[in-house]
Amino acid sequence: MLTFEPRQQTEIRYCGLSSTEMSIKLINNAAMPIVGLGTWRASPGQLAEALKVAIATGYRHIDGAYVYKNEGEVGAALCAMIKEGVVTREDLFIVSKLWCTFHEKSKVKAACQKTLNDLKLDYLDLYLMHIPMGVKEVGDELLPQDDNGKVLPSNTDFLDTWEIECHPYLTQEKLIDYCHSKDISVTAYSPLGSPDRPFATAGEPTLLEDLRIKAIADKYKKTTAQVLIRFHIQRNVIVIPKSATPQRIKENFQVFDFELSEDDMATLMSFNRNWRFFAIPWGTTHKDYPFHAEY
Ligand code: NDP
Repeated sequence: MLTFEPRQQTEIRYCGLSSTEMSIKLINNAAMPIVGLGTWRASPGQLAEALKVAIATGYRHIDGAYVYKNEGEVGAALCAMIKEGVVTREDLFIVSKLWCTFHEKSKVKAACQKTLNDLKLDYLDLYLMHIPMGVKEVGDELLPQDDNGKVLPSNTDFLDTWEIECHPYLTQEKLIDYCHSKDISVTAYSPLGSPDRPFATAGEPTLLEDLRIKAIADKYKKTTAQVLIRFHIQRNVIVIPKSATPQRIKENFQVFDFELSEDDMATLMSFNRNWRFFAIPWGTTHKDYPFHAEY
């Protein structure tokens, strides 16, 4: 994980909380907003509007990646808002990720530069390895395959940290306790269970339709999505729900005005079933496949 020097941020207030209070302090003292906007699978054309709504709502953390193939659109939208004075670059916490075909050390700088060019930025706040499994670079292909459809692994070693899927079906207690004990911040991706993931199969559990979670949400007059997001905030885990729907973008940020009781947190934790929505089916035989590890 490569982070940059903390920048001076404009304080915003939301539900009486300052931007600092809605952030996690990283080990280099940078403040990373605890709720960010996910951008995977945001359709072209939708994203600019989604970002406008998100910034107006109060989001300052945007989670992106080269492989989402939309960094150009993110960059154009952010650049326009910065020019218009809606927000400053320093107010934003921008995350991107190195794709698997660029793991060789000699390729990292150019990959990062490509992302910066697309985003029209001169620095990122956080640059992560997207998945710790190297893949051969073949032209522009994101997942080059052999004649049998097997993704071609590269021999590179993963060097750094790994982001963590996390939600009430995969509570990751051991890993999160370990990371927090070492002052390592954790980001929960797919917090709503990634209902639009392209590799979903029939019969898989769906977090957003779980009636037990809906019952908890009803008690607080909140939605299931808001409870799923608040669950992470109370665990000091950064959370990046994706939405391209203005109403949902706002809804997903209205999570600072209620607190789940200890009992409800314990109930949500009890739903753990070690279920992973994002199991990376193409990588299960890769030497660095991360999900065989105990944590
Ligand atoms: P999420 O769990 O965030 O779910 C996103 C889906 O939920 C979309 O279909 C969205 O629809 C829908 N949704 C959003 N808000 C609501 C709501 N309030 N009520 C009902 N439905 C809602 O899935 P993702 O897998 O996208 O994960 C979030 C982000 O995490 C990604 O976008 C990406 O930035 C990051 N990520 C990182 C990974 C990694 O680093 N390895 C892996 C996976 C994700 P709509 O947009 O139509 O509103």
